[in-house]
Order: sequence, then C-alpha cells, then structure tokens
Amino acid sequence: MPLGDQALALLTSALRDPMVVTRYRAKMVQVPGSDCLWWRGAVSGRGHGRFHVGTFPAEEGRAAGRDLCVIAHRFGYALVFGAAALNGVPVLGHRCDNALCQRIGPGHVQASSHALNRRAYLARRFVAGNPLGDARGAQGRSRELRDLVPGGPGSGGRRAGPAAAAGVTAAAVRPVTTRPGRG
Ligand SMILES: [Zn+2]
Repeated sequence: MPLGDQALALLTSALRDPMVVTRYRAKMVQVPGSDCLWWRGAVSGRGHGRFHVGTFPAEEGRAAGRDLCVIAHRFGYALVFGAAALNGVPVLGHRCDNALCQRIGPGHVQASSHALNRRAYLARRFVAGNPLGDARGAQGRSRELRDLVPGGPGSGGRRAGPAAAAGVTAAAVRPVTTRPGRG
C-alpha cells in the first residue's frame, strides 16, 4: 500500500537523517555461510522486520506522537532507490526466502508484484527444507532466527552497543558462533 503524503515526507526526511540510518544499520548483521543481511530487531506478524521510522510532527489541533513504522526491508529499499521509488513498487519479494533479509539486490530483496510473489511462493513452498514451508509459521520462524543473531534478544545479552551507535557497519559486528555440545 503506498504511503500517504505525510508518511512519505517523514520517510524522506528520515532517509536523510544519519541518526535514523545508523539506527537502521545497527539492526542488521551478517551470519557466516549466508549472503543475507539479517534483521535482528522487531518482527511483524508476517515475519518481516519492523522499523520505527519516526514520529509525525505536531499539527494544528493535534499533538505529535503518532509513530510511523514500516517493514524494515522497505526502508532498506528506500535507502537505495529513494522514497518515491519505494512508493511505486507494489510489493518487494525475497528471492532468498529469508523474510528477515535486508540485502537489496538480485537474489535477495527485489521489486515484485503480488502475482509474481504469489507464484514464487507457491512454487517454492513445498520444496523440502524450504523456509516457506516451516511449521513455525512466518513470525515464529523469523523470531527464532532473529533471536539467534548476535545482539538479538536471545543472544545472551551480547549487544553491539557503542560500536553500533558509532555507525560501525553490519559486516563488522561480531558474527554468530555455533555452539557445539550445547543442547
Ligand atoms: Zn537474502
């Protein structure tokens, strides 16, 4: 669904705000063996990342405080192609079938359409081992995966902390380690 004028204006200014962009990038991490950029922030009911863009300014007769949250990879797409381009794309598809993925480009997050997305989903859903057929469902799967990512809620309190705040790229964040012998 395209954003309204007000939301588009807020998104546009957020994209130019280094603080917001740093906050977005700090929620991504690379995992060894995966080309995806993994989201480790809030997860929506459909298993996508959720990103708090900002708060609408106060208007005449109306206080500020309404929040604008968007699907995280849509924010990422707007970072690459601009807010107006994002508004012209009906739907973004994950060619990597990783709903948490924030990598914008071929093989990962690409512009699509509802029809194309549906067709791709149906074609891949019943392939054995494909994440689209995961019994945990989109949100359950994404939350569990997110929680395994370093700095995520389930990672034992490891946080990117000051490094992320200083704008260190996701690639520099400590990668997830496998823990043989546990569980
Ligand atoms: Zn990906």
